[in-house]
Amino acid sequence: MLATLTVQDNAYEVALENFDLAANALDLDDSVRAMIKYPERVLEVSVPVRMDTGKIVRYQGYRVQHSTKRGPAKGGIRFHPNVTVDEVKALATWMTWKCAVVNIPFGGGKGGITCSPKEMSLGELERMTRRYTSAILPLIGPQQDIPAPDVYTTPQIMAWIMDTYSMTKGYPISGVVTGKPICLGGSLGRNEATGRGVYYTIVSSCEKLGISLKGSRAVVQGFGNAGSVAAHLLDSNQAYVVGASDSRGCVYNKLGLDIPKLMMFKEQTGTVVGFPGAEAISPAELLALDCEILVPAALENTITAENAHRVRAKIIAEAANGPVTPAADRVLNERGVFLIPDILCNAGGVTVSYFEWVQDEQHLFWDAQDVYSRLERVMKTAFEEVYNIRQEHKVDMRLAANMLGVGRVADATRLRGLYP
Ligand code: GLU
Repeated sequence: MLATLTVQDNAYEVALENFDLAANALDLDDSVRAMIKYPERVLEVSVPVRMDTGKIVRYQGYRVQHSTKRGPAKGGIRFHPNVTVDEVKALATWMTWKCAVVNIPFGGGKGGITCSPKEMSLGELERMTRRYTSAILPLIGPQQDIPAPDVYTTPQIMAWIMDTYSMTKGYPISGVVTGKPICLGGSLGRNEATGRGVYYTIVSSCEKLGISLKGSRAVVQGFGNAGSVAAHLLDSNQAYVVGASDSRGCVYNKLGLDIPKLMMFKEQTGTVVGFPGAEAISPAELLALDCEILVPAALENTITAENAHRVRAKIIAEAANGPVTPAADRVLNERGVFLIPDILCNAGGVTVSYFEWVQDEQHLFWDAQDVYSRLERVMKTAFEEVYNIRQEHKVDMRLAANMLGVGRVADATRLRGLYP
């Protein structure tokens, strides 16, 4: 029993398990599996930082390139106290299948530093980011590996990465990182892209299931960049967001939270906790709220075998990476819950990162409407492709998405062949 739990808690084991399921369903031969399953490169770096007190503290950092079969490695950088090498390997692996699902010409990568960014000053964060960038310099570059924001990393942090990289090369290179501020070659719409993509996949799901978005109730676990934007779009399109949470607590209003006000409140106080006109509830109660749409938008392993049977939503939209464990998947499937898997649901972020990279490479920038309409097209196409695999092969949405992603990487790998 204990062993099973440990395996499920390890995100990398989860990623490998889901790969095997897809590879089996596709009947992939062992040679191709051997070439695409594991990360191509794993870099572990020491990041010494001079703190404001004058003391030097060492942080542990990582950059993993899971795949460069379909293009340069692509994926965010996470600053979080729970970052481990296995977590970064899992996140990098998911990026590979994610980029393939939305059919953008990238492989998968991810980076991270084990740290508590909320307890650091801006100066400390800048020094840590710059030293980390210099440590991973041999791996990154606009044609090699392109970082981006992830949990607790911001456009400002991307600007420091761009600057550090550019200073070592001697000229400005904006395409080395995405999610930058607009004035440094960032793309309009990138900040909202993950949440917007989540929203598009929810709209598509409601259409397939015959659920009216108007009047439906949503719960957003994790009111960060992805969660708050998804909540805002749901709210603006006449759904009621009845519950929301962040790392400090959960709020509930059965008539619907005032989302624009909640966004302002979070901006001012740093948390949703204490929002006037809402009731405080526990994280367990939040996940079990009566609603049509549940959006886990925080971290891995939120919905597990222990709490999956309490979920009452009809649709789960995985705005986070890996929020539902394989054991929970089985429970939810049995109960007929429709899951929009992470590598499809939250792919809007990396899709607009791709648009940003294209704009940087061409030095030609698009207007917001152009970004949104292209994003909508990419997300809706990917949704249809995944849904069609689900129907044709009678599999669940996660397996369908993994079959699409893994299948595309396998095709590219077969055509490229083995070097030398
Ligand atoms: N961190 C985001 C993700 O998990 C975005 C990655 C990117 O834009 O490269 O998809």
